[in-house]
Amino acid sequence: TTVYLNGSFMPASEAKISPMDRGFLFGDGIYEVIPSYGGRFVGFGPHIDRMHSGLAQLSIDPKLSLSDWQQIADTLIADNRAELGDNLGVYFQVSRGTDTKRGHAFPSNISPTVFGYAFAIGPEPVADKSKATTYAVVTGQDLRWQRCHIKSTSLLGNVLHYQQSYAQGAQEILLFDKDGNLTEGAAVNVFVVKDGVIATPPLSNKLLPGITRHILLAILAEHSDISVEQRDVSEAEVLAADEIWLTSSSKEIAPVLFVNDKPVGSGQVGDVWLAVQQLFSQHKFAY
Ligand code: PLP
Repeated sequence: TTVYLNGSFMPASEAKISPMDRGFLFGDGIYEVIPSYGGRFVGFGPHIDRMHSGLAQLSIDPKLSLSDWQQIADTLIADNRAELGDNLGVYFQVSRGTDTKRGHAFPSNISPTVFGYAFAIGPEPVADKSKATTYAVVTGQDLRWQRCHIKSTSLLGNVLHYQQSYAQGAQEILLFDKDGNLTEGAAVNVFVVKDGVIATPPLSNKLLPGITRHILLAILAEHSDISVEQRDVSEAEVLAADEIWLTSSSKEIAPVLFVNDKPVGSGQVGDVWLAVQQLFSQHKFAY
């Protein structure tokens, strides 16, 4: 595997990062995961915009432009496609860099550590009820921090929530804030459907501004008459929904069939999901 580290491409076995890196010691960094199929990325620009926005909020400047990132990503794909296949995720991580002494304050004269690698992802999701990967989820109180809009490498809160679902035999968790409103999952945004109306929580500090969420909303606005309400969604609404979907770069739009062991709606993959995943599959490369 060829990886990118601080300006160079090299075999993964030769990539070395100091244990004094603040990404390792403090989780002081931002990451991004961008999917590609047959060499075509989904949402490359929006993914890089989100990463730049996160980095700016942490006052980290890797001094790389959109086209620099594009070149790195294209090279990672070209150099790894023979070994890893045609469906690749590109992972980028930028940490504040390596310090010589310990201290929470931002060091003034260190440069960011920039890392990138490609990894095999599953087949392109298809709009076919019999082929959909479906999910069973549990519910829980969102115990993460109040800056969930930042795609921080400090993922412990998400890891613990994911594990909470896994320990109960589920594959994701729907999280609710202290007012009982849906935020997101451990690694997904969430949509619900009731009587043909789609709703998803509005962007805020309580959830990651998912790129799949963003692209889906844009596609629905541009290519359909289906409207989506971005508003608070209560736990009662989630439990009474006809359909629930999880969205993420690797899952695209994934139907949830069970919440806390109870079937969602009819317990089958829904018709609204089918229509929406069809539109997503058709238009996703345009964003
Ligand atoms: N929410 C969280 C906490 C995530 O980690 C992710 C992605 O991994 C998402 C939502 C979905 O974001 P995206 O659609 O950009 O992959």
